[in-house]
Amino acid sequence: MSSLLIIEDDELLRDGLCAQLAQAGHGITAAADGEAAQRLLEVQRFDGVVLDLGLPKISGMELLRWLRKRLPALPVLILTARDGVEDRVQGLNAGADDYLTKPFNMAELQARLGALLRRARLPAFGGSLELASSHSQRPLRVDATLPQAWLGDEALELTQREWALLSLLVTQAGRVVSREDVLETWQSDPGEPGALASNALEVYIHRLRRKLVDSGLNIRNVRGLGYMLETSSA
Ligand code: CA
Repeated sequence: MSSLLIIEDDELLRDGLCAQLAQAGHGITAAADGEAAQRLLEVQRFDGVVLDLGLPKISGMELLRWLRKRLPALPVLILTARDGVEDRVQGLNAGADDYLTKPFNMAELQARLGALLRRARLPAFGGSLELASSHSQRPLRVDATLPQAWLGDEALELTQREWALLSLLVTQAGRVVSREDVLETWQSDPGEPGALASNALEVYIHRLRRKLVDSGLNIRNVRGLGYMLETSSA
């Protein structure tokens, strides 16, 4: 369960949002204006925020800037008017993680919010990492800024999908990465519908295993949970 703050001055929409998200199992707190939201954010800890940009007292944009200075990692989904292209751009520049245009579909809001919350739980990966096995002379090195991966001196040829999968496994090495986590990072590239991606995961794991064959690293299938990158024991 995530603890969410819903900031929306339209009572009907606010009540609707609160009811739906509560039903989805989240803990909900609501605020009808920017000032009330600010007071809540000062005393209470939240996992995510849904923020309407058109708010009385303190505008949504102002609140967003204030919030970003204090809580840089808090996931924020903004709601903007349909014709508010400018707002959207400004909002994203001010640090919103995602946006939805009114009127929006409740299922889409839940999906986007779920994605933000899951992503926030994964550690950010912005640097370079090296994983070496004592059984191999070829350490795996990944650099997220390029992005590029090497096995020893040899650059690995990876598709976008393979890269996303590998960097997730590497940052979580020694821990289980769930299928859901992988699909989440994949769906942030709008290439493929979810069901197809889910079936494709096995295929991509298989391909990555082949590419890592001399690395001394192994992608273990942890039944029912997901996958784990580990140094192989033989
Ligand atoms: Ca409004």
